[in-house]
Amino acid sequence: MRCPYCRSDDSRVVDSRAFDDGLGIRRRRECSDCSRRFTTTETSVLYVVKRSGATEPFQRGKVVSGVRKACQGRPVSEDDLALLAQQVEDFLRAEGQAEVPAMDVGLAILAPLRELDEVAYLRFASVYRSFDTLEDFEAEIALLRAEGEPMGQEPTVVATETPLSTPGSRPT
Ligand SMILES: [Zn+2]
Repeated sequence: MRCPYCRSDDSRVVDSRAFDDGLGIRRRRECSDCSRRFTTTETSVLYVVKRSGATEPFQRGKVVSGVRKACQGRPVSEDDLALLAQQVEDFLRAEGQAEVPAMDVGLAILAPLRELDEVAYLRFASVYRSFDTLEDFEAEIALLRAEGEPMGQEPTVVATETPLSTPGSRPT
């Protein structure tokens, strides 16, 4: 890292601090030549690949605004939404990929949203998983009911590989 004052390549780290709950590291450096100090930040890269093929940095705010619509009229607070967006980011980062398709972001929202509010989840899922018919909703509701029974509480990401163009029954 080149010193912004004298352009020397030689600097040493005098302090390192995590920020944003450990997602980034901020380093205080001291130039070995001019002794001036400067700060660098380090964050791991997470890009979203849009359907158009364009990429953009992952933004929690986009998750929140996407989910907020589905939560209209539901008892979901802004704090809930912020936490959900963080869970989604944590999940995606845990995958270890530098780039994730936009579709995967939507899918990563499903499990925590279901925990938060089942009605909002159904609304959101109906868009992201292309529910076409009443049966799609019925199947999903049946699934919610079944999983609502006191079994395990680990939310499993529902298989979503079904091609959109293939009508017909899905395994329950
Ligand atoms: Zn310097």
